[in-house]
Amino acid sequence: MNSTLAIIGGGASSIAFIDAFIEKHQSNSPDLIKITVFEKSKDLGPGNAYQGDAQSNLLNTKAGYITVFKDKPGDFFEWLNLYRYRWQPLYPNLEISEHTYAPRPLFGMYMANAFDRIVKKAFMKNIIVKVIRSEVIQLKERADQLSVTLKTATQKNYEFDSVVIACGTLSKSPFSPPISSKVHHTPYPISTLCNTVEKDDNVAIIGARLSAIDAVVGLIENGHTGKITLYSRSHLFPFVRGTQGRYKNTFLSAKYISERYTSLTLADLAELFNKEINLYHQTHPDESKENIVFPPPPIKDLSEFLSTEMNKANMNRGWQAVLYDTNAILALVWEMLVIEDKELFITSMMSAAMSMRVSIPRENALKIKSYLDNGQLEYIGGETQINTCSDNTLSVTSPEGTSAVDSIIYAVGSPRDIYLSDSELLRHMVDSGLAKPHKFGGIDVCTETYALLSKDEVISPSVYAIGEVTHGCFLFTSALDIIVRHANNCAQTIHSKLIKQVAPLLEA
Ligand SMILES: Cc1cc2nc3c(=O)[nH]c(=O)nc-3n(C[C@H](O)[C@H](O)[C@H](O)COP(=O)(O)OP(=O)(O)OC[C@H]3O[C@@H](n4cnc5c(N)ncnc54)[C@H](O)[C@@H]3O)c2cc1C
Repeated sequence: MNSTLAIIGGGASSIAFIDAFIEKHQSNSPDLIKITVFEKSKDLGPGNAYQGDAQSNLLNTKAGYITVFKDKPGDFFEWLNLYRYRWQPLYPNLEISEHTYAPRPLFGMYMANAFDRIVKKAFMKNIIVKVIRSEVIQLKERADQLSVTLKTATQKNYEFDSVVIACGTLSKSPFSPPISSKVHHTPYPISTLCNTVEKDDNVAIIGARLSAIDAVVGLIENGHTGKITLYSRSHLFPFVRGTQGRYKNTFLSAKYISERYTSLTLADLAELFNKEINLYHQTHPDESKENIVFPPPPIKDLSEFLSTEMNKANMNRGWQAVLYDTNAILALVWEMLVIEDKELFITSMMSAAMSMRVSIPRENALKIKSYLDNGQLEYIGGETQINTCSDNTLSVTSPEGTSAVDSIIYAVGSPRDIYLSDSELLRHMVDSGLAKPHKFGGIDVCTETYALLSKDEVISPSVYAIGEVTHGCFLFTSALDIIVRHANNCAQTIHSKLIKQVAPLLEA
């Protein structure tokens, strides 16, 4: 039997999905499976996160640990050593070790190569991977739900047995109508931003998380001379990553939690975290234990905060190792958390949790501190309001007063609401009732099978979603190891479904 499967998006989720699908598939299987990947950008593999862009955009995971293949933990580092001749001319000054935070576009080169590798590997297993470089703008299930029709921006229609939506981080749609050519709805690509913002502009950046840091470092390293102000609504800033390696949690593990709890509260999680930290320090007696305060206190002086953080980041930070390992159980914990605590977490703790969980490399902290110390960068906490005047001048009002600025950059991450995103496909799916927005962001899926839930909460038999579009269901999907895990689980579901369809035919 021939089966057809489409994947919308050719980034990390897509690669990890195909890899897991191939692994499940018997090489002597008589079934021909065709996978068609639709990708709207010119590159296959890098996706939005690792696209060709400024070299100052760094990974926040060390080169020795980041990989797109579940069973090959050191794959990126191996690739770096194997393909040095390819990347070194582009990065002549880059010293690579397992501890390097490599430029994201370099990781994008690895992802492009990873995509090529899985296409070849698939072919060896009787799976044909075809690529169509076009944006999918509509998706419709046939009335009998036996197949799905995709429509592309080039007005072509295609029919498939199953479809996986893997279209990545939702980008904020441009302001409509545009506020001003000087107001940027996203900092990405940073290289375009650097060419658009005048070097001596007085710039306001709304947001103080990773994308804001990419913008500051990118602008200044590309010769920006004007003043830059970072506005942080939460009064927070990412913590700095220590030197620790990986740690396996005991209390904050799927086994421990599922054997003892039927549901969880935030208080349970705090208790488990404290137990885990104590255990970590019993097993690492030479490391100093930090006093963790959650939520962290508001930052008054960012330079002072970074000084303290950089000193601590010279050492192993047990709490970061423990938090990192919770990636493996986040989906389970989120599913088990009682609804009141989910709401409390999303509305009042998410920013604080992200500032601690999504930490920055020491080298970026050092750069930010030096810009603060030489006066080019300023950090202001609190709510802001953007003011546009009839003569096209811009200003920002914050708790510290109103300041005239030349350019404003929104670096506030991806929108939770589908309608604020630039995805015509997702908006159409929600409008048609095929998909249902998740109350915590993105679209709703069955958390076991990744099958889409319709407006009426009916589970789709043929449409699935993985990656960042499902973040509301799983709380946090913005890390490659999490993306890879979900893609693997989904591949298992779909592969088993296809095999079940085929088995009776083979027996007959
Ligand atoms: C700026 C940024 C930096 C990050 N840095 C890190 C990091 O350092 N470490 C880490 O672990 N994680 C990081 N992440 C998390 C990151 O999201 C994941 O690691 C991973 O790249 C997401 O994979 P994905 O396949 O879901 O999305 P993507 O890799 O973005 O792939 C989605 C693809 O779908 C395509 N597409 C979208 N819509 C359509 C459509 N309608 N039709 C056709 N094609 C479409 C897009 O062009 C894109 O190529 C970062 C994320 C961002 C946004």
